[in-house]
Amino acid sequence: MMADLKWMHEAIELAKQAGASGEVPVGAVVVREGLIVGRGCNGPVANNDPTAHAELMALRDAAQTIGNYRLENCTLYVTLEPCTMCAGAILNSRISRLVYGASEPRTGAAGSVLDVFANQGLNHHTEVIGGVLSDACRQLLQEFFKPKRLNLKPLREDALRPPDEWFEGIPDYPWAAQYVSDLPSLKGLRLHYLDEGRSENLNAGQDPSSHRQLTYLCLHGNPAWSYLYRKMIPTFTTHGHRVVAPDLIGFGKSDKFKKPNQHNFDFHRQVLLDLIERLDLHRIVLVVQDWGGILGLTLPMDMPHRFAGLLAMNTALATGTQPLTEGFLSWRAWCESNPDFEVAKLFARGNKHMSIAETQAYNSPFKDRGHRAALHAFPPMVPEHENSSGAEISRKALNFWRHQWQGQSMMVIGLQDPVLGEAGMRELQQNIQACPPPILLPQAGHFVQEHGQPIAESAVQHFKVSTS
Ligand SMILES: [Zn+2]
Repeated sequence: MMADLKWMHEAIELAKQAGASGEVPVGAVVVREGLIVGRGCNGPVANNDPTAHAELMALRDAAQTIGNYRLENCTLYVTLEPCTMCAGAILNSRISRLVYGASEPRTGAAGSVLDVFANQGLNHHTEVIGGVLSDACRQLLQEFFKPKRLNLKPLREDALRPPDEWFEGIPDYPWAAQYVSDLPSLKGLRLHYLDEGRSENLNAGQDPSSHRQLTYLCLHGNPAWSYLYRKMIPTFTTHGHRVVAPDLIGFGKSDKFKKPNQHNFDFHRQVLLDLIERLDLHRIVLVVQDWGGILGLTLPMDMPHRFAGLLAMNTALATGTQPLTEGFLSWRAWCESNPDFEVAKLFARGNKHMSIAETQAYNSPFKDRGHRAALHAFPPMVPEHENSSGAEISRKALNFWRHQWQGQSMMVIGLQDPVLGEAGMRELQQNIQACPPPILLPQAGHFVQEHGQPIAESAVQHFKVSTS
């Protein structure tokens, strides 16, 4: 019995791993002669496999370890009463003992709905013990399902929602969360954005200051979120302007896709277009950096009347017509070989002036591994070839900036950026109609916004809107 508790704790650890990946938290181990020979985490979503239950994963693992498809003298420990499929597999594999935690009143096949193991025609050898650490096992499941019940809008099954607690107490981010989930492109996903400094008198036509109000639309890239703009937002609002700063799906407080391949260029672009339409933004100054520009620079051509200005920082238009830079290629390769890289460390490395609490804030959206799909998806999504997804629209955008852009522009380059640095930005400047020479920040790196306060001061002096 003591041994049963010990092994069930091992199964619970695996259940937690499944839960952290966004799967229903169920875990299993197979034990033979006092040693774990097989481990399994529930994983049907990530594996696209309806049979990827914890028990089957553990049985397969054990059979590989032992080198035999018959698992005689083995005990299977699983945190939840097995379903009919798993009960069948347990019998087929000749498991001698089954020990499970919580019972499963809706699908359990070891006594709850039916009892496969009690059928003498099928079963001659499996002893069944239920209810071992059942409270701990059940609590994991209850906690997993609890946040969904609390949400006002249903969460999509293929997505995760970062809990509010992950964002508690982070420095210099006092702004109220705004959410939208009924944009056509979102199909039920919940997008988070900041919306600060909005003039109350926009429709009254009385307040002359409202006519001078610009909307700074601040778009972040990978692996950042709207936190990136915390040093610029107060300056914009203090000068009477409005700031809208969304978190792309997969980042920040927005919902996260479970799988990298759910992300694509057109989806993210369309979400931004839909958000601008929904909020009916006008006199927009587009503020972009990294993916904020790769996506954001393709927006104004679809709605030029809404845009008044552009503030571009270390970014690119990925038209697929010339090779991606060496700096970007090594970043992409690094991401691929370090899939679990810590976002906070990345910020700390290039920004020695940031506090630990600030760098840690960049980790907040990614506290569970299951929430990291966007980090895996974005680097390979940069359009690389002429026919890459997003490349054609980026070429159209380039043409727009060269020949049709009527607004004011401003460019700031962080010179310590190995990925999207000075050379590419100077070329971009040449392609933006009437864009003055860039402001160079020798001390700033890729995340230029970490030096954002003086940039915002320059911007509010630079961008003036006609009051017509
Ligand atoms: Zn099952």
